[in-house]
Amino acid sequence: MAVPVSQAFTVMSYVLKQKLKGRKRYPLVLMLEPLFRCNLACAGCGKIQYPAHILKAELTPEQCWAAAEECGTPMVSIPGGEPLLHPQMPEIVAGLVARKKYVYMCTNALLLKEKLHLFKPSKYLSFSVHLDGEKEHHDFGVCREGGHDIAMEGIRAAVAAGFRVTTNTTLFDGADPNSVRRHFDQIMEAGVESMMLSPGYTYDKAPDQQHFLGKAKSRRMFRAILSNRKKSWEFNTHPLFSEFLMGKQDFECTPWGMPTYSIFGWQKPCYLLQDGYADTFQELLDATEWENYGAKSGNPRCANCMVHSGHEASAVDYNFSSLKGFIQTAKRYMFKPTYDDADAMKLLNEWPKTSHGPLVQIDNAASTNVVVKTTVQESSAVSGD
Ligand code: SF4
Repeated sequence: MAVPVSQAFTVMSYVLKQKLKGRKRYPLVLMLEPLFRCNLACAGCGKIQYPAHILKAELTPEQCWAAAEECGTPMVSIPGGEPLLHPQMPEIVAGLVARKKYVYMCTNALLLKEKLHLFKPSKYLSFSVHLDGEKEHHDFGVCREGGHDIAMEGIRAAVAAGFRVTTNTTLFDGADPNSVRRHFDQIMEAGVESMMLSPGYTYDKAPDQQHFLGKAKSRRMFRAILSNRKKSWEFNTHPLFSEFLMGKQDFECTPWGMPTYSIFGWQKPCYLLQDGYADTFQELLDATEWENYGAKSGNPRCANCMVHSGHEASAVDYNFSSLKGFIQTAKRYMFKPTYDDADAMKLLNEWPKTSHGPLVQIDNAASTNVVVKTTVQESSAVSGD
């Protein structure tokens, strides 16, 4: 089972309540960003390019709990920044768990093993470890040699200590579908509960602007990866979101589905774009011009976006909005289809082997002027905005 039955039941009853109340826009997962500081500086990340005084700032536990209560979602995802760098993270998580929120703490796991003793295993807490693929791909993506090995050690330690552990994988242009499939095998063998998969978003602040995926390329890649899948693979994303990635469903974005709260307040309109901030969640709902976002709006920043934080809530909403959506979803959970597809298998077999060239190690000491160093070639400078 990709998530515990109690979690599935909690989410189902929450969404049904929203439907019965006639709420047109309701949140599903709070994206809580208690800090932007990180101990990595990934080339595709658009979250850490702030001046030093912002990177030092943190939400207090009380602010985190108040945000969770204010928007009322049954699930809280804690990205960042690296949450384990926040000195009060164990207290923040304990408070959310006490409020019966299902917490996914997104971590690069560099500090997971050494900080594990500060947390208590609970059905409400899952460590969602950021792993972008096999060793070579992950280390390249996070610009840190050895990052994969440390993350896998953290995963094994957390599983052995009785924690729920999941993974989140972001794919960029140049990802190798065959390698991603081997990566799934490795993760499941390490004892993780389930995996999350999403294409990256074209952050205009990210140092590496060349490797973001367009929609057609994304669908082709996800079709190769997710068709002919193994029964042993468990995904914690909604099955219709997975079909959306493969080009079998078409969903518009519901940016209010995963609202973001950080030291700046409630971010308009979504986790990815920063078109201002609201002081309260209600103000975010009321004052955001939602019609200006999503692929159909014509907003160029949304044109290629297929990310999980914008579209998974759309799949969940579709699930509960019609009998067709409900039956489709129920069948996916009951029969766990493997999406047998001869053309996708051919695509996979013929996929050209990709090589990254030298690993890029980014010095994040000064986040405003990110310095890029290759491990085997001369250093070069890239503006981090
Ligand atoms: S399409 Fe993507 S970038 Fe645009 S509002 Fe939705 S999540 Fe944000």
